[in-house]
Amino acid sequence: MSAFRGIDDLGPLEDRPVLVRVDFNVPVSAGRIADSSRIEAALPTIEALTAKGARVILLSHFGRPGGQVEPALSLAFVAPALAERLAQAVEFIAAPVGDGAREAIEASSAPVLLLENVRFYAGETENDAALADRLAALGEAFVNDAFSAAHRAHASTVGLAQRLPAVAGLAMIGELEALEAALGSPARPLAAVVGGAKVSTKLAVLENLVPKVDHLIIGGGMANTFLAALGHPVGASLCEHHMTATAGAIIAAAAQADCKIHLPSEVVVAKALEAGIETQIKPVEEVAADDLILDLGPASVERLIGVLQDCRTVVWNGPLGAFEVPPFDKGTKALAAAAGTLSQAGTLLSVAGGGDTVAALKAAGVAHQFNHVSMAGGAFLDWMAGRELPAVTPLRANG
Ligand code: ADP
Ligand code: MG
Repeated sequence: MSAFRGIDDLGPLEDRPVLVRVDFNVPVSAGRIADSSRIEAALPTIEALTAKGARVILLSHFGRPGGQVEPALSLAFVAPALAERLAQAVEFIAAPVGDGAREAIEASSAPVLLLENVRFYAGETENDAALADRLAALGEAFVNDAFSAAHRAHASTVGLAQRLPAVAGLAMIGELEALEAALGSPARPLAAVVGGAKVSTKLAVLENLVPKVDHLIIGGGMANTFLAALGHPVGASLCEHHMTATAGAIIAAAAQADCKIHLPSEVVVAKALEAGIETQIKPVEEVAADDLILDLGPASVERLIGVLQDCRTVVWNGPLGAFEVPPFDKGTKALAAAAGTLSQAGTLLSVAGGGDTVAALKAAGVAHQFNHVSMAGGAFLDWMAGRELPAVTPLRANG
């Protein structure tokens, strides 16, 4: 039995209105949907519900309108994109909840309806009871399929789950099961790769991982703070010098917990962060005062590939270098390619998440080789930090 209630637990759905929280906060550039992954991720749940004869009423946020109507952040543009992918009519309901939405839903014959941006309502992000009541009045059951919004207790996530029979959608269950396999009851040895710019934004993640993982691979800008804590010169690199004592405490906790920390021993440096600039490969002991550490060196990449070869599971968040600017993408791409190959060979279970991480895996062309790539940024990090996600709690089978 799954740890979460699913659509089948809702009983017969013929002609019943079902509210479905999705994440249609898609990236848009020059008026076009730049990446439709989030729309595609919602299709299985919508199709499963319409196959049971339910009337699907979709709710999502889009951007940060701050609790007021902002026409530029309307969700209307998603309805035709969704209709095309579903090959079914999707009607956009422009009327506000509590002021015409219900009547518009009842007057419609479309099997799938999309409500306006839930963040147009001031009560959404406060999980306001009156707003949650008005939303709940639109349906008879609630399906949450928005893992990426699950770290926030909002009216359209927690509020609805408290008022209606609530279950997890298929994308939500896919995310939760992949995360459970990676950190809940993982095959060992288990490695975590943590990179990105700063220690301060991922401190809770590092502290949660140390007692759980066998290998902690630290890269990116945050590795510089650890190198500085160990007395290595970091030159002009991004480094949080005020956090070196914290980094030292993490190193000490890892030694206690039998968690092996892997830091770069060889780095790629340059005098500026510019594409195509002259670079040097140096041992960490030899970084000069005007050097910027911008990537892992090839010897460190090889050593880390060796670590992953010995592991059965890896959880990855954060690029290992300034990957947006070539050639400083090489280290991240090489380790990601190795993880992808090991995953395809079946010796490694790989789970990755985070906005920049997923962009780096896609740029390396290896995202599809990973066992699971999370759609979430903040929710993935909260999960890596060991926090219970408030919108997930009410979906648990025993919850
Ligand atoms: P995610 O979005 O996957 O959680 P982060 O936002 O924490 O990742 O970190 C990504 C950022 O870290 C990128 O913009 C990358 O350029 C930056 N970064 C990584 N390594 C370095 C480095 N050595 N120096 C400067 N910036 C770095
Ligand atoms: Mg980021």
